[in-house]
Amino acid sequence: MNNSAKPNVVELVDGILSEAIQFGATDIHFEPTSTGLQVKYRMDGSLKIVETLPLAISDNTISRLKVLGNLLTYRNDIPQEGRIEGLPEQPAVSQSGKVIDKRLAVFPTIHGQRAVVRIFYENDSLTELVKLGFNPTIESSLKEFTRKNQGILLLTGPAGSGKSTTLAAMLRYIMQQFPGKSIVALEDPVERAVAGVTQVQIDTRGEMTFPVALRSLLRQDPEVLMIGEIRDAETARIAIEAGLTGHLLMSTMHSGNCSGALLRLLEMNIEPYQVTSGISAVLNQRLVRKLCEYCKVKTQDGTYEPRGCEKCRNTGFHGRMLLAEMVELDGQLRKTILQQSDMEHLEATLESRGHMKLIQDGRRLVSQGITTNDEIERVCGA
Ligand SMILES: [Zn+2]
Repeated sequence: MNNSAKPNVVELVDGILSEAIQFGATDIHFEPTSTGLQVKYRMDGSLKIVETLPLAISDNTISRLKVLGNLLTYRNDIPQEGRIEGLPEQPAVSQSGKVIDKRLAVFPTIHGQRAVVRIFYENDSLTELVKLGFNPTIESSLKEFTRKNQGILLLTGPAGSGKSTTLAAMLRYIMQQFPGKSIVALEDPVERAVAGVTQVQIDTRGEMTFPVALRSLLRQDPEVLMIGEIRDAETARIAIEAGLTGHLLMSTMHSGNCSGALLRLLEMNIEPYQVTSGISAVLNQRLVRKLCEYCKVKTQDGTYEPRGCEKCRNTGFHGRMLLAEMVELDGQLRKTILQQSDMEHLEATLESRGHMKLIQDGRRLVSQGITTNDEIERVCGA
């Protein structure tokens, strides 16, 4: 079955996997084009073209990946997903820690099959709340939230802004501080195993949906609940009820800022008084790339700019860090939401209280020489 993969392709694929892991890439894309198979690494959130393999070996390269992923090599016409077990000559040291899982997904296109290898790293430091890089005010507010008996913490930001990493860190912190608490997490998909947490895989197209699982779970007497994402009104409604009836709940929601997340709940027809009494705080976060320590250059105004060297594969950046803003609901804000629930009024109220915005948190990292203004503006969409 795997005789289509020539020996040189075997070495080639191993080499690509090893190199990507060494650079701490989270994804490797194998993209078929009319002229060859383009290989890209996703490093620190950005895709970078690494090389284009000749057309003559494109099919064999994909076949070799399918062999490693235990997929059907003779089916080129359907999407397939698998897991790459083990890896010959895995580099001993990776910039992102030990590799814990590698998943392969292939997809047919007009130029042949497209393949993506997703690499999961252990990276212990990222799952500790105190190591995520929040500013001290937000870090202590997050810790304060874990001491409550009920309420909801909503995390917001676009896809890939590190929300699930923050959630995992919060769960871990709760387990360390309050051993014995009953913690349940509903996820789609379960991204990483967290010891001590009952994790439930949600199947949005099957019977085990977020609302079904959540409603039934509330009868299992959990104290802390984590819901991967609030996507629909029904989940939102049950989540709010849970947050009002003696549960500490954390979840995520797609939105550009803190006010936006609160307003989305209202758009889902959640009553304003339920939003104001159920939600404790909203955290909006982004990931910014950190300047490569080996090649960053100091500019005239005292900030730094990227240059590029061997260590960072000429990107000028290495690693990422969190930017965040947090809104805690208090009397004044609750009153605003109950009276005038629109973006303009919410933002004006926040502004009048000296709310520290995402972009201001970013300036802190620029002044410390950790990242650049361009990078802050890129992730904040300014
Ligand atoms: Zn560098």
